[in-house]
Amino acid sequence: MVKNKFFCHTIPETILKEAYDMNCKANKCIECTVQQCAHHCDGQNYCTLDRIMVGTHEADPTMNQCTDCKSFCEK
Ligand code: SF4
Repeated sequence: MVKNKFFCHTIPETILKEAYDMNCKANKCIECTVQQCAHHCDGQNYCTLDRIMVGTHEADPTMNQCTDCKSFCEK
């Protein structure tokens, strides 16, 4: 288990290794360009997770810049 990351402390290392795999399974329902994320499918702009959590860092979000992927995990 990965314990040093706030948003991914419950994700087993085997899952993270799958995300790094060149043959990662892109979830075509979740497009993403955040290549710094461990869940990003390298070479394709998709997430590898089955689902993600989206949240906000604002008290009253008014634009897409106010939202965040809470499933992000630093590589
Ligand atoms: S977890 Fe979020 S930031 Fe990371 S690849 Fe998936 S959608 Fe992108």
